[in-house]
Amino acid sequence: MNVFFDVQGTLLCRGIPRPHAREVFAELAGASHAVYLWSSAGAGYAASAAELLGVKDLVLGCCSKFAPPVTVDYAVDDYPDLVNHYGGYTIVPFDGDPGDRELWKVAERLRR
Ligand SMILES: [Mg+2]
Repeated sequence: MNVFFDVQGTLLCRGIPRPHAREVFAELAGASHAVYLWSSAGAGYAASAAELLGVKDLVLGCCSKFAPPVTVDYAVDDYPDLVNHYGGYTIVPFDGDPGDRELWKVAERLRR
């Protein structure tokens, strides 16, 4: 599946990377999912987030929410609109907690 992650609130909070992004993305990639980052702030912002999260090698692309390069099969977002539209998972917003493990819920759901 083509899995699209929102950036702000989903993967970052005030520039702090959400814990476990790399491990979760590695699991998804290992299960043949194609991981993308997208942002309403544009492709450049999504790409800088990929850099900050240390996941550049695990994502197939970074794009604007208005121009996904492939079919969106699964959206992960802290805001329900796109999840309702495409299907996916509405994640609890990241508040900067270093003990946050919410991203693992995405991997768990995609294991089923
Ligand atoms: Mg968001």
